Amino acid sequence: MKSFNIIDLHCDTIVECVTDGAVFRDGDGHISVEKLAAGGCLAQCFAIWIPTGRAIKRHKTARMGYYGYYKTAREFFQNAMAENADMIRQARTVADIEKNKADGKMSAILTVEDSIWVEGKMERIEEAAADGVRMMSLLWNTVNCMGYPNSPYHEAHLMGLKPFGYDAVRKMNDLGIIVDVSHLNEGGFWGVVKTSTKPVAASHSCARALCDHPRNLTDEQLKAIGECGGVVGINFYDEFLTPGDTGYTEISAITRHLEHIRDKAGIEALAFGSDFDGISSELEFEDYAGFPILLEAMEEVFSDDEIDMISHENFLRVMKDNE
Ligand SMILES: [Zn+2]
Repeated sequence: MKSFNIIDLHCDTIVECVTDGAVFRDGDGHISVEKLAAGGCLAQCFAIWIPTGRAIKRHKTARMGYYGYYKTAREFFQNAMAENADMIRQARTVADIEKNKADGKMSAILTVEDSIWVEGKMERIEEAAADGVRMMSLLWNTVNCMGYPNSPYHEAHLMGLKPFGYDAVRKMNDLGIIVDVSHLNEGGFWGVVKTSTKPVAASHSCARALCDHPRNLTDEQLKAIGECGGVVGINFYDEFLTPGDTGYTEISAITRHLEHIRDKAGIEALAFGSDFDGISSELEFEDYAGFPILLEAMEEVFSDDEIDMISHENFLRVMKDNE
């Protein structure tokens, strides 16, 4: 079988481990170190998601506070890297990823989903950069110091970034943290695109023209991401891929979104953003270890060179452009 070098832009595996005691090395979630190796991983983005709203109770965020949760999850990640150094190592740069690969190791890229823990303090963004965070979303599904989340209500969806949000985008550009627009509302999205001097990423979003959900991106948004040299990581959740609640992720739905985004944003804008361990739909290829099944099916639509771009080259370019 042809070997692949996959970079997946988003998973919630850290949170599953922190909250539910999922096992990082050989657990039965979508992702474990062993499943990454079986699936052909070059680098995995591991998000520290900050639970808010209705998620607070299950994740005990109220007791720790948002900043406390960030620190707890960071400590988990650092320990996981130390314990699994024989197979995977943290990468802060493209050069780190290349070095790890040369040493026969996979790479882990630390990312953050939701800047609510920043709490309007610019030094927290500096702290994230020092921790090796290389991509951070401004929002999740709760209003925070930066702006407003995606919404089914037109007016709420078009509200712009807050003043701190604009400053934070500039700060992230300065520090080499990729600005992640997934979960952000459309008004905030345009604020980011106008402000960021570096290519942005939508780490785990799909095309709204194919599945009308406010978490997905309109054709105009896709075009803007392509024009700024950014990427869109296709989310594997059926609710963002297929209209109606099927509870099942078909490979053909993923390739349909890939083709649509290619047509609007360009082949250079495509990437994977599985959302593994954060999604509840059953998948045709089951979990990370099934990635080769997806890639082989993609060969019917894309050339080998295009699959290399989608699977890792496009994101490496965005990472380099942000360094
Ligand atoms: Zn998410």
